[in-house]
Amino acid sequence: MAGQRDYYQVLGVAETATTDEIKKAFRRLAKQYHPDRNPNNPQAADRFKEINEAHDVLSDAEKRKKYDQLRKYGAFAGPGSGGVNPNYGRGARRGRTGTDESSDFDISDLGGLGDIFSSIFGRRGAGGREAEAEEVETSVTIPFRVAALGGSVPITLAMPEVCPTCGGNGAAKGATVNQCPECKGRGTVSFGQGGFAVNRPCPVCRGKGTVPSQRCPTCQGAGEVRVEKRVNVEIPAGVEDGARLRLKNQGPKGRGDLIVQIQIAADRFFRREGLDLVGVVPINLAQALLGSRIKVKTLDDKRVVLRIPPGTQHGQKFRIPGHGIEKNGRHGDMYVEAHVTLPEKLSAEEQEAVKSFAEKTGMKY
Ligand SMILES: [Zn+2]
Ligand SMILES: [Zn+2]
Repeated sequence: MAGQRDYYQVLGVAETATTDEIKKAFRRLAKQYHPDRNPNNPQAADRFKEINEAHDVLSDAEKRKKYDQLRKYGAFAGPGSGGVNPNYGRGARRGRTGTDESSDFDISDLGGLGDIFSSIFGRRGAGGREAEAEEVETSVTIPFRVAALGGSVPITLAMPEVCPTCGGNGAAKGATVNQCPECKGRGTVSFGQGGFAVNRPCPVCRGKGTVPSQRCPTCQGAGEVRVEKRVNVEIPAGVEDGARLRLKNQGPKGRGDLIVQIQIAADRFFRREGLDLVGVVPINLAQALLGSRIKVKTLDDKRVVLRIPPGTQHGQKFRIPGHGIEKNGRHGDMYVEAHVTLPEKLSAEEQEAVKSFAEKTGMKY
């Protein structure tokens, strides 16, 4: 990671400099090191960037205040730092000798403070913006049966892809690519919020740090286009409701991940209890009293004959082993829950039959 130079030194001003003095120093140096006056001079370009950065912070009262606070920890002392708390500074550098010429400070030495600094001033850690993982999240409702048994579900969604016209740089053919004037190439801009500033992707360059002299006509400079993409989501058997499946490299631009959250539609017959499947089967009064053989269908459409014993109670469960959900080598069972349904209306003759039954069995009514 690049060293962090002292902003006061960068502009060649005292730490007590007024806003006016800072502005003047910036103008003079910016003119001197401007890329237009120093073509093909990467050192001048770096210096120019540094000057802009220093001015950006020191010309803003809020940022300057925070910077000064961090500076007190000795974070940004460069060569010949002019005696700003030198001892404090050396102490904070944990045994490094503070007077050598290569004492550019590495921000990562600051630990937590480095994070604060990057959140204020938009410095990026190692890796940079190219390595940032982009991902897209979507959700899909799948049939109960597919969730239980597994399967493949096609989904279609609008996905950002690299613009085929410009190859992603957002520039029209023949256009030049320049440093973004808004964020000075950092890709982020900061907004004051509460005690600290918060970084946002730069709205002008959309985080790229560069802007083309003429935008790509296909993507309007975004470098990406949204295309309808069809993706087959492989559903593992026994997936839980609300599970999030990560599809590697199926996301934006073919390198980000696609995350699919699974929602499971209710089934007419079955519900899940862990790896077990529970289905409700209606039986009539005679079946409940006298017993019966009923046919039930398993989730994978096999027919099973289930014997209902005489005297089956409403809500009683019967186990059909091994017909539940299979997941990670474990098997659930299928349960059939008997629901006794009663006739809603009886004829006079039927009423007499029930009364006679009730009297014989001692039932009060
Ligand atoms: Zn384009
Ligand atoms: Zn920008």
